[in-house]
Amino acid sequence: MEIFTMYYLIIYSFEMIILLFSSPILISYSLAEPIKAAIITFDDGMLSQFTYAKPILDNYNFKATFYIICNSVDKENRMNWNNIQTLEEEGHEIGSHSMNHKRLSKLSEENIKYEIIESKRCLQENGFNVTSFSFPYNDGDNNESILKIIADNYYIARTASEPLMLFQCRSETVENSVEDNDNKYENQFHKYLTENNENELQSDFKRYTITGLSHEAYKKSGGHSDEEMFEQFIEIVESQTKYNTETTIGAIPILIYHSVDYSVDDYSINPNLFEKEIEYLFENGYKIFQMKDVVYDNEEGLHIQGH
Ligand SMILES: [Zn+2]
Repeated sequence: MEIFTMYYLIIYSFEMIILLFSSPILISYSLAEPIKAAIITFDDGMLSQFTYAKPILDNYNFKATFYIICNSVDKENRMNWNNIQTLEEEGHEIGSHSMNHKRLSKLSEENIKYEIIESKRCLQENGFNVTSFSFPYNDGDNNESILKIIADNYYIARTASEPLMLFQCRSETVENSVEDNDNKYENQFHKYLTENNENELQSDFKRYTITGLSHEAYKKSGGHSDEEMFEQFIEIVESQTKYNTETTIGAIPILIYHSVDYSVDDYSINPNLFEKEIEYLFENGYKIFQMKDVVYDNEEGLHIQGH
């Protein structure tokens, strides 16, 4: 009996030694991997975001940013104020997606101000202090007077249609990466950088034209199957790794969702596909940030706080 106990003690100590010796190796291995990150955003305040997407996010404890159209709250198929309050109480971020979801560039200055400023006040009146705006239809994101009004009233703003948000301040990583052109997203990054360098307006207002990717747009453009959309999703979120180090985020995919339901609407994603995407991010160790984690300072420019 004693011998038996000793045998176990020896085995146990041996295992402890192995653990002690292997842990620094494991730690250094994980530090050498570039950080993978994503921001999950929702536009339009659809009720399906609450009924279908939130429970999936909850399963993985992922927190997102929800952009609300103030005048659409409590309308058919939209969230009510209680839903939105629950989101905020549970750690999700609330942002403004204007008052009425109109194309800003088509409006008079008075109405532009109403859509941008009044929506912030409206959300405030209902208990939400928002610092972030998202452009309806991505419209007006190249219009100086619109950008100025946004800049006077919000900390940052999100538009669309680039697969990754590239932080210019991380240019050292970026310059090395754009040289190899084997990735089809590279050209877009390069184009984006060149345009940004040439276009002072966009450069000055970069924090108000943060780009995200409306994933459902693929559905619209070519009738891709859910399988193909999932493959594209993986390709996009993984394409950031060459811009990132183990501690620095040089590029981050900002995912934009609208409805999450079983309809065949262009701006809807099937909950099963949504779950697959969220599960992928979880299983592959993605760090999930919110729009409020995108910060600006003179020294580092636009970046993810702490990275
Ligand atoms: Zn919208």
